[in-house]
Amino acid sequence: MTRRSPPIIGLTGGIGSGKSTVAKCFFELGIQNVDADDIARLVVLPGSECLHKIHQRHGDAILLNDGTLNRRGLRDIIFNQPEERAWLEALTHPAIRKGLLIQLDKATSKYVLLVHPLLFETKQNEICKQVIAIDVPAEIQLQRVMLRDNISEENAQKILSTQLSNKDRIRNADLSLKNSGNTDELNDKVFKLNEEILALTSF
Ligand code: ADP
Repeated sequence: MTRRSPPIIGLTGGIGSGKSTVAKCFFELGIQNVDADDIARLVVLPGSECLHKIHQRHGDAILLNDGTLNRRGLRDIIFNQPEERAWLEALTHPAIRKGLLIQLDKATSKYVLLVHPLLFETKQNEICKQVIAIDVPAEIQLQRVMLRDNISEENAQKILSTQLSNKDRIRNADLSLKNSGNTDELNDKVFKLNEEILALTSF
């Protein structure tokens, strides 16, 4: 018998909105996930085509001593040069998409979450049966990012400003999930949302 891949449910939200935390709550309920940020790290590992091209374009300064990508260096470049951001995205997004599809296809849970901060921007919402957007006030998001990544408010704000606003994401999504409370409240909300999605995907 051939296996049918489970339906894909998108989970999106800006940096620090709680995507990983939410994905973990779903995992505890038996729902697997594929995280675009993890795949994005895989496609630039030493020996990859993407890292080779990045090295060719930006020279040795873009590599650390151990041959891995100098992420901070690359982040500085793309923050300040929009054309370099566009070049990098044109290179990496197709590779990330391919990696995501391979992983999604391997999932065995009732549905699988595609966790992606740029789900709409990269049009990956098109492969999703439903999309959940995390709804969190920008001030809370900013505080959580500063705390988690130990970065200044200015840098956290800069990252946020390159992404769609939460309002736009929520407007485009089918479902929204509030993450402005504590983790117990979040667990309860995820439990209910899982029931809702199971009802939507059991056909
Ligand atoms: P993302 O994956 O969207 O970047 P994370 O799941 O890593 O976001 O969450 C960002 C930070 O906020 C993490 O340190 C996480 O532990 C914390 N966090 C997320 N949700 C909550 C919550 N409901 N209460 C308290 N802290 C939270």
